[in-house]
Amino acid sequence: MPATPEQWIAALTDTYWTTGRRIDPLTAHRTATRTETPANMNVKAADKVSEGLDVIARAERLTAEGTTLSRREAAAIRDAFVMEAEDVADQRETVRTRGCPACGCFTLLPIKGKAQCINRHCAPRPGLRRRWTYRDLGYTQAAKPRGAQRSTGYPADLRPLSFLTEFFAQSGHKVTAATLARWVKLHNLPRWPVDGKTYAYSLSDVATAHAVQLAARKGELCGDGVRPACTGLADLFYNTDEQAGAMDNALMKRRVTVAKELCAACPFIDPCRQAALKPNGQEQHGVAGGLTRNERRQMKTEMNR
Ligand SMILES: [Zn+2]
Repeated sequence: MPATPEQWIAALTDTYWTTGRRIDPLTAHRTATRTETPANMNVKAADKVSEGLDVIARAERLTAEGTTLSRREAAAIRDAFVMEAEDVADQRETVRTRGCPACGCFTLLPIKGKAQCINRHCAPRPGLRRRWTYRDLGYTQAAKPRGAQRSTGYPADLRPLSFLTEFFAQSGHKVTAATLARWVKLHNLPRWPVDGKTYAYSLSDVATAHAVQLAARKGELCGDGVRPACTGLADLFYNTDEQAGAMDNALMKRRVTVAKELCAACPFIDPCRQAALKPNGQEQHGVAGGLTRNERRQMKTEMNR
C-alpha cells in the first residue's frame, strides 16, 4: 500500500484509478471508434491527484519555514491526505491505526469521507457517533482512555471473540483470542450467550479495555497528570479481594499485579497511600496507593506499635 502522498499520487494517476478499470494490453493500441462507449473517468481519483499536488506544495512551504509548529502542520496535512486518498481507493489502513481523539480507542472507521468512532461509549448521545475529518485526525492526538467501560443493557454491538481479534488486527494490534479473553476477565466485561456454548461481547466494551491495556503498557494511562491511574478501572482495583465476591485466585492475583503496576507509575501514589494508611480512616477494598488491603492492614499495625 502507498504510504506517502507522493506514492498515492503515483497510484491514483495509474490508469486503473483514473478509468476505473485496467487497460487490456491486447486492445490498448486500438483507438476508440464511435461505436465503443467511452471509458468512465474516475473524477474522484483525478481530483485527488491535483489536490495532492497542492498538499505537497503547501507542506513544502511550511517545512521551509523551519519552526516546529510549521513542520508539525506539514506532517499533519500530508497525513490527512494519505487517509483521504485511502478513502477514495476504498482502503482503511491508516485510519484504523489511529486512536480516537475523544476516547482513545482504536475504533475509527472511514465512513462517508470521515472517520467515525464506532465505540458506543464514545457517542455524545445514544445513536450518535463522533465523526472526525481526516484533517482533524492529522492535527489532534488520540485521547487517553478513560478506563474500561461496561455495557449494562443488551448491547447492539455484540461480536464473537473471533470477530474482535480480526477487528484489532486491522488496527495493527496483534491480539490473540486468549489475550482478549484474559482482558474480558480482568475488567469483568459482561458477556452474552450466543448458542448456549459460545459467548459474544460488546465491541465497545472490549475496545475500551484494549485501549486501557495499551496505555498501561506504555505507562500512559496516568500521563495526563490530572486523573489517577485507577480512574475508570473500578473492577481492576477494587474487585481484588475475597470480600468482593467469589472469584478465582489466579484472576485475583492478576488484577492485583496489574493494579500495582499502574499505581507504581501513577503521579498520585503518595497522597493516595497517605489517605489509605490514615490511622482511623475508613477501610476500603482493593488496591490503593500500590498496596493491597492486607498489606495496608499490616503496615497500619506496624505503625501503631
Ligand atoms: Zn471515540
